[in-house]
Order: sequence, then structure tokens, then C-alpha cells
Amino acid sequence: MNERFGNEFARVIKNMFSLTYSLNQKAGKVGLTGEVKLMSEKRQLKKIEQRKVLRSTDMDLRFKYKISETPGAEKIMLCFQCGTCTADCPIARFSESYRPRKLMRMTQLGLKERVLSSDVIWLCAACFTCVDRCPQDVGISSVLRALRNLAVKEGYMPRVYRDLAANILKTGYAYRISELRLKKRKEQELPALPKANLASIGKLSKITGFSKLVETEGEKSARS
Ligand code: SF4
Ligand code: SF4
Repeated sequence: MNERFGNEFARVIKNMFSLTYSLNQKAGKVGLTGEVKLMSEKRQLKKIEQRKVLRSTDMDLRFKYKISETPGAEKIMLCFQCGTCTADCPIARFSESYRPRKLMRMTQLGLKERVLSSDVIWLCAACFTCVDRCPQDVGISSVLRALRNLAVKEGYMPRVYRDLAANILKTGYAYRISELRLKKRKEQELPALPKANLASIGKLSKITGFSKLVETEGEKSARS
């Protein structure tokens, strides 16, 4: 109890101190030492470097309409940036870069290349927490699904997903099941794993264009 209180107390004091410091700093009451000043300037410069200027040529005005064609993502235009999705998202809690609110805004602005080439669109766990809480009924997880689908079509696909897809095409399973694992199952008298119908998987992936989507650059050039 005492320890818990101690930790909490230390946290409150720390927060209070940093608030007082920043208020004083704003009012010009704190004289910064040369070292602190330099650090603060460096930080400012880094922030400016990170801030990218938006140009009208970066924006594809049709992008949001394209995304809204996906069932469930029709309401992307209704997002008014309240931030509830980011505040409640379990992934955003652990990732400094995953911000569903920001992705909604970037999509609205038509920043197609930036959004589709970004790794963070693959982080959504489709838990639907944001969907349940969005005051505008924006289907955030559907928007992210639409973004990922489009990203794959445009050639942006993280290696790990390409490998999983290739495994499905080759074995019918997302993960390769080792011989040792199969042997162990037999030893433990567990039932044999169902055999995948590779002919049907191949046929389906050809009809839907899935096999072409997951081809690596090497496979593409070997085919052409
Ligand atoms: S909760 Fe809905 S309205 Fe609010 S920022 Fe997220 S998507 Fe936009
Ligand atoms: S569906 Fe995706 S964006 Fe929404 S709360 Fe879950 S992980 Fe976050």
C-alpha cells in the first residue's frame, strides 16, 4: 500500500514539476543553461525535419471515394477527427506510430502513397473497439481493410504476409507444419491433420488473381 502510494506520489510530483517548469519556461521565468538550450533547439529542429509539407500534388482527391466503395468503409468522409478511435485502440496503446484517427485524416486528404506504403496499416487487429465507439459510425476497421487490399494491389505488401500467402498456396496452411510436428502428433495418438485440397486452392487463387498478387519480383520476371 505504502509502496503503491509512494510510486503514485512520485508520479504526481514529477508531473507537477514538469507542468510548473513548462509554464515558467513559457513565461520566460526559467533561465536555461547552455546545454539544455542546445538540446531544446536540436529537438525543435528534429521536429521541423519530421514535419513534411503537404503539397497539392501529394493529394489524390479520388482516393477517399475509391476507399468508400468497399462495403463497410462508406462513411470515411464522416470522420470529424474526435480521436475516440485512437484513444480506445488497444494497438495504439502499445505503438507510438499507429494512430487510426490520423490514418482516417490522411485518407480523407488523399495522401494515397503515404498511406498505402505505410507499415502501420497492417497493425490493425480488427477488434472493432473503435467501430463500436465512433460517434460518426465510421467503419474504421473496414477502412483499414480497404487500405490494405489496395496496398497489395499497388505492390505494397509486407514480406511476412507474402510468405504466409505463399505457404497457403503451397501447403494449404498459413504456417508450414514440420515433419517432426506430424511425427509427434502420431506418437501422441492425435488425429492426422486434414489434407488441404491444393487443386481447389490453386483454382480459386487463379480465378481471384490471388496467386499473381503474392508473386515476388523474382517470380514475376521468371514468368514474363
Ligand atoms: S472515432 Fe470516428 S469520428 Fe472520431 S476520429 Fe475516429 S473515425 Fe473519426
Ligand atoms: S479495429 Fe483496429 S483500429 Fe480499431 S480499435 Fe481495433 S485494432 Fe484499433
